[in-house]
Amino acid sequence: MSFTLNDLPLREDLRGRSPYGAPQLDVPVVLNTNENPHAPSPALAKAMSEAVAETALGLNRYPDRDAVRLREDLAAYLGHGLGSANVWAANGSNEILQQLLQAFGGPGRTAMGFEPSYSMHPIISRATGTEWVSVPRDADFRIDIDRALAAVAEHRPSVVFLTSPNNPTGTALELDAIERLAQAAPGVVVVDEAYAEFRREGTPSALTLLDQHPKVIVSRTMSKAFALAGARVGYLAAHPAVVDALQLVRLPYHLSAVTQAVAITALGHADELLGAVADLRAERDDLVAWLRAQGFRVADSDANFVLFGEFEDRARVWQDMLDQQVLIRNVGPPGWLRVTIGTPEEMGAFREALLGATR
Ligand SMILES: *Cc1c(COP(=O)(O)O)cnc(C)c1O
Repeated sequence: MSFTLNDLPLREDLRGRSPYGAPQLDVPVVLNTNENPHAPSPALAKAMSEAVAETALGLNRYPDRDAVRLREDLAAYLGHGLGSANVWAANGSNEILQQLLQAFGGPGRTAMGFEPSYSMHPIISRATGTEWVSVPRDADFRIDIDRALAAVAEHRPSVVFLTSPNNPTGTALELDAIERLAQAAPGVVVVDEAYAEFRREGTPSALTLLDQHPKVIVSRTMSKAFALAGARVGYLAAHPAVVDALQLVRLPYHLSAVTQAVAITALGHADELLGAVADLRAERDDLVAWLRAQGFRVADSDANFVLFGEFEDRARVWQDMLDQQVLIRNVGPPGWLRVTIGTPEEMGAFREALLGATR
């Protein structure tokens, strides 16, 4: 009997949709999901396992439902006068985004984004029954503010997504543009700052807008700069009323005691975990210069990855590099590829494989 997805009583609006699916392949050089290449040190791993061992002695009880200690530590890390009432945490910033859409999106409502951008924004929007409106970026991958304001006026979105620095292009957004959109938007404006720690000198964070704009929400993650993708910890900073709204949709005890213990320990070692960020930024700037010297087009990057092109057949280049044991990402506008910044050794392998694939 051949029984497939199509034979199930799936929601009509989910039929024909594709799941998120960055390849997870076992190759020596993995540069495709913007992870930090540096694993926690053995000393930090030991501290985490001790925290988990202590937590394990209380695993018969539910965890702190409000994750207060973790939120205090995250607020202290962010600074800007924020306290635990301004911060909410979940299993990766993807769960944060899902909770935001559950609270502020939903059937009959619209979410808007400026693409190319993070593929999970439309996927989570649709999964929560929220209509997705995509507004194209201009040729430099910037947001044309007049076009954006016109789209907001036309569609009246309940949720506007601004990704800064943007994935997959690396482009950051000026605060002025965020402010103008926040003033015009009828709903909330979510600034996805997953890559904030990698931004270049002088590129501001939307955290500075929270005081003046109670409907601006800044989403962050420990998956990238913090080198903690495997632990699944994301968080947001916003007006306390936003945190109140999320309590209405979050599952009780959504963040396990083990996750909270690991994240609190990691924050206690923030200096160590973030220690590689300066090197990764320098490596990124070197790579941008090298790619340009080879004659590639390269998007300016404030993140830990670089979008470059343009290829007549990017799928062939991607495959050729994979055949040379280097996994990058076939994503973004047609003709472009994205590479995550790894260790100097990994970037050497990347350069060699790219030259091999395009020679
Ligand atoms: C990687 C990424 C995230 C992080 O997701 P987590 O669920 O926190 O791992 C969020 N937003 C963007 C734009 C990203 O690229």
